[in-house]
Amino acid sequence: MPLMQLRIAHLYAHFLNIYGDRGNIIALSQRASWRGIEVKVDAIDLNQKTDPDYYDLYFVGGGQDKQQIVIAEDLLKRADDLKSATDNGAVILSVCGGYQLLGHYYKPHEGPELKGISLIDAYTVAGNRRMIGNVTIKAADGSTLVGFENHSGKTYLGKGVPPLGTVVVGNGNNGEDKSEGAAVGTIYGTYLHGSLLPKNPLFADRLLTQALKRRYADVTLTALDDTLENQAHKRALILPA
Ligand code: GLN
Repeated sequence: MPLMQLRIAHLYAHFLNIYGDRGNIIALSQRASWRGIEVKVDAIDLNQKTDPDYYDLYFVGGGQDKQQIVIAEDLLKRADDLKSATDNGAVILSVCGGYQLLGHYYKPHEGPELKGISLIDAYTVAGNRRMIGNVTIKAADGSTLVGFENHSGKTYLGKGVPPLGTVVVGNGNNGEDKSEGAAVGTIYGTYLHGSLLPKNPLFADRLLTQALKRRYADVTLTALDDTLENQAHKRALILPA
């Protein structure tokens, strides 16, 4: 009988999944399974209803402008459910295109402004250059996060919104204010593709712990042998932007 069960909703898995972002689902699932935690992953498609009290963790990946246009209207219909879920402790990890739509809006180069769900007090406007390359950031707890960015969108956080980290290498949210991503309670946004979590095991376990704490009182994850993950992290640290 498994100790615990982790319920993951992979939002728009068939639309927002560029640069290996589904690797985050694989990393979360594997790191939970290695600890004897039962994992249930549901790919949630357009117009597919979800129960806001059911999932422990939601993941939404990145995509080109055209994929964002396809899902933006559907995501708006989920705004209240996602707000209710995160108010009750569910975790959201959003990457790049998905992250942009968790803010107030994303204004692409062409076409109309895409209204976001305002889970994060931020907005994004397309810049005149693509920000592409390796990224290293330093999180508030002093740990580093590594990944790869590829976006033209420049995201600006509202006053007092904590970034996921401060840029050490690369551009981050906008290439101007050294902020990268956003971390608001259990709501996370980032531009780090790669995918993010396999090379950042501490952060993966932080998300797992928060997500499991939604339904289980005492959550202490047993240590894993992260030799390979830490080697990949260290290697990425020395990569140039
Ligand atoms: N289309 C958005 C941009 O270019 C997001 C890209 C992405 O998800 N990598 O900024």
